[in-house]
Amino acid sequence: IDRPIHDVVLGDAASYGDSPALIDGLTGETVTYAQLDHDHRRVAAALAESGLRKGDVLALFSPNTVLFPVVFYGATRAGATVTTISSLATAEDLSGQLRDSGARWIVTVSAFLPTVTAAVETLAAEAGDGQEPRVREVIVCDRAEGHRGVQDLIASTAPEPHIAFDPGEDVAVLPYSSGTTGTPKGVMLTHRSVATNLAQVDPLHHEPPGVRTLAVIPFFHVYGLTALMNAPLRHGCTVVVLPRFELAQFLGAIAEHRVNGLFVAPPIVLALAKHPVVDRYDLSSVKWVVCSAAPLDADLAEACARRLDVPTIRQAYGMTELSPGAFVVPADELSPPPGTVGKMIPNTELRVVSVDDPDKELGAGESGELLIRGPQVMKGYLGRPEATDAMVDADGWLHTGDIGHLDERGYLFVVDRVKELIKHKGYQVAPAELEAVLLTHEAVADAAVIGVYDEDGNEIPKAFVVTRPGMELTEDDIVGYVAAKVAPYKKVRAVEFIDTVPKAASGKILRRELRAREALSRERSRP
Ligand code: ATP
Ligand code: MG
Repeated sequence: IDRPIHDVVLGDAASYGDSPALIDGLTGETVTYAQLDHDHRRVAAALAESGLRKGDVLALFSPNTVLFPVVFYGATRAGATVTTISSLATAEDLSGQLRDSGARWIVTVSAFLPTVTAAVETLAAEAGDGQEPRVREVIVCDRAEGHRGVQDLIASTAPEPHIAFDPGEDVAVLPYSSGTTGTPKGVMLTHRSVATNLAQVDPLHHEPPGVRTLAVIPFFHVYGLTALMNAPLRHGCTVVVLPRFELAQFLGAIAEHRVNGLFVAPPIVLALAKHPVVDRYDLSSVKWVVCSAAPLDADLAEACARRLDVPTIRQAYGMTELSPGAFVVPADELSPPPGTVGKMIPNTELRVVSVDDPDKELGAGESGELLIRGPQVMKGYLGRPEATDAMVDADGWLHTGDIGHLDERGYLFVVDRVKELIKHKGYQVAPAELEAVLLTHEAVADAAVIGVYDEDGNEIPKAFVVTRPGMELTEDDIVGYVAAKVAPYKKVRAVEFIDTVPKAASGKILRRELRAREALSRERSRP
């Protein structure tokens, strides 16, 4: 484990030779293990020759492509810290992340060049005259006039750099948290924390070489980076790559490439469970499905598993600050308790403490905030010492901000985030629980719940509902349906119909966008 991440992942790559490491799910373009091994070393050589030095930050701003890992491991081998950037970033988001991370190199795709150019110009204007521009070079994965392409780097004849790594100190990757609750923060993950977590979550994967998985979850998010890049490439598996989630494309790629295992997020489970088009595809190659990143309803998971004819949807729980894994349902567990996010991975500790009284430790069956400690805890947030101290206490416990409980057998159940709880007349209501109930309604295509204030200033749960095409739903239907299934204090007390639920690229519901929308409509309705 005390080796840099590229050596941990690609240590056996050469021995897998001509077997495919990555296949483009749309074009069929393939990168074999021998190529991956060779090409990423060439990229490292070319970057070093261009002046990239150990500790320089390289920004990787790209949707999933077969070249993403070539660039990623090439950059880390050259000693860079790679900061991965969401494909949905605007020029403003991008300049913000480039500024915050201090990136000097950008690797992108030609389609993103207008965004990159705008962001780079913003930074150059800030730097003022006579100063060296912060960004030294923009390299593209495909081809674009005026830029070197990754193929040019691969053709380099420069000598391969041999960097002395300090795996426990050197930051391999600087992903940004999803920004679900606020501004995304740069999370410093060392070579050791990423490599250690890879070993810790091995029971989740444990796939023989040749098994095919599908990368539709973005590599730029730490979940995709681990589950769909580091883990399968370490095991000699084949990763079929898609640039974004589009249901027909996704199902077509599974059928065409005979994909065996899927890593997904709840919106994909929702589509697989409910969308009529699913039955038109031959999905018989799929043997297992793993879901992570956000709360998943047990009934929905069950419906999806039945439709795909797999034993269960296995969940995993983690966060960017945990490199990212902490709990998984191991691959050999075919009937875990419904709704669990799994069992603790090795070398990890958990405490469940009362939200109101953090000194009070809770036992099995009692819900509280989850505190986690282990070698996978981040080194810190880049440039935010106070935020780091607020998150990781002096004893090394990471305060996840999530609420959950263990059962008697050590299975974890995550309820929701502390910050999202709705406080209704002294009771606490978890929006995720109500969303789960709403999704079980036949006519509900999607749903999200937030706390809003009624005329008397009480916080009440409000549901935002997307109706399934061709079906009819009224506010009373929704209120009545939920009321029949939950304790009276949890009832949905306001409903609004919307076209789509706002979600992050990683599949999380962006409740803060709904809150902003709510605030705006309040503003407007004020006399
Ligand atoms: P930010 O920290 O910027 O607000 P974020 O917390 O969404 O964004 P991530 O690190 O991508 O950023 O997500 C981690 C969070 O995702 C966890 O804290 C938890 O709330 C949620 N999560 C992850 N896996 C699960 C799961 N299996 N079930 C429920 N929630 C999950
Ligand atoms: Mg977070």
